[in-house]
Amino acid sequence: MPEPKIEVGLVTERKIDLLLIGDYKSGKSDTFTGNISIEFVNGRIEVIGKKNRVPFLKNVELVPDDEFANSFIVENFELGKDFHWQQKKRARFRGRIKIIAKENNLILINVIRAEEYLRSVISSEMSARSPIEFLKAHAIISRSWLISQMITPVKDKSISNIRTENELVKWYDNREHEDFDICADDHCQRYHGIPNASFDRVNRAIEETEGIVLIDGENICDARYSKCCGGRSEAYETVWDNNPKPYLKPIYDYKYSPDDFEDDLSNEIAARKWITANPVSFCNTHDEELLTDILVDFDYETIDFFRWNVHYTQDQLKEIIWVKSGIDFGEIIDLKPLERGSSGRITRLEITGTERSFIVGKELEIRKWLSKSHLLSSAFVVNKRKVKNNIPQEFELLGAGWGHGVGLCQIGAAAMAKQGYYFDEILLHYYTGANLKKIY
Ligand SMILES: [Zn+2]
Ligand SMILES: [Zn+2]
Repeated sequence: MPEPKIEVGLVTERKIDLLLIGDYKSGKSDTFTGNISIEFVNGRIEVIGKKNRVPFLKNVELVPDDEFANSFIVENFELGKDFHWQQKKRARFRGRIKIIAKENNLILINVIRAEEYLRSVISSEMSARSPIEFLKAHAIISRSWLISQMITPVKDKSISNIRTENELVKWYDNREHEDFDICADDHCQRYHGIPNASFDRVNRAIEETEGIVLIDGENICDARYSKCCGGRSEAYETVWDNNPKPYLKPIYDYKYSPDDFEDDLSNEIAARKWITANPVSFCNTHDEELLTDILVDFDYETIDFFRWNVHYTQDQLKEIIWVKSGIDFGEIIDLKPLERGSSGRITRLEITGTERSFIVGKELEIRKWLSKSHLLSSAFVVNKRKVKNNIPQEFELLGAGWGHGVGLCQIGAAAMAKQGYYFDEILLHYYTGANLKKIY
């Protein structure tokens, strides 16, 4: 197949300001450069440059006259939306600019070659100082995920959100974008533009793995990944729909399985034993040098990720759950895991209050409901303290891992690379039974 071109949704706003570096052409006659504004006026999209103001009836496409030299800058580019690292920064992109109008808003879309997109994703997800074999592994999974998303038909959206009177089961499917292939943030893959620092290693990782993807039989793998599995990875169906993928099976994140833990951590006793232990694992690392080398700055602020704890008073927890769920539970009496995946991640949690009970799932929704931003993961156990008249005054959540835990563990994979493993060994450790294939 030829290298695909992809459309990445960057910004949705009423008015978009860009700085164009180099000439960008719309159609035959109009050329824009420098500062431009794009506005939606009287049902038309207007592109306003220094010298010209051009209205368009529908979509606008601005094409750089030199694909490699030109770039454009988005001021106030928002990243980490709704996560604890949410921030705005200045971001620079290559490729074409496409603008479409939708419901009185404008959507800024970047049309870019897959390999160019991946170059940015790798340096947005992880630091460009990471070990080279890790960057190669990451290039392959980001490419596999991207292409598998693009060729898989959009699923029925209604199945990702099931609400009954007493239960909400919700997961977040990546294919909920209608107007472009993927978004630029954590929801899909982080695409935060061309990095400022030099990134020779990223270039090498992309070039040396060009067109290589993970396959399962004839199919390109939906190669999911997360920051830290917590020592055991999770099954696909625990986090998303109930269609298991053979290569996204739980594994112990080490050379061998530990001797004193069960393979299935889904029951309460096994989960508690695991989460409160400190097992040997590739991602159980305190190698400061490795962590500063692999994590981008705003991730490095999250240091306790292999095992973590969160404390709430009754009032704090009650307030957070009320704000996040919109449900008035009264005083919170209990947080009870009803179902866990094989890594101990909770998929159904029953919240019991003095007013009512409600069951919430799957893992990301649980993480949202129990934190002002997100809990690091849903692999946690709950300790209740200072119980007065059946009502705990304090809750302690002890947890494991950072993220959904499915597929490759970024911190474990980086640790493997530092220990001398090659990219193919790293990939086959995390994606059981998969193979590598060059498709372009
Ligand atoms: Zn997305
Ligand atoms: Zn791990």
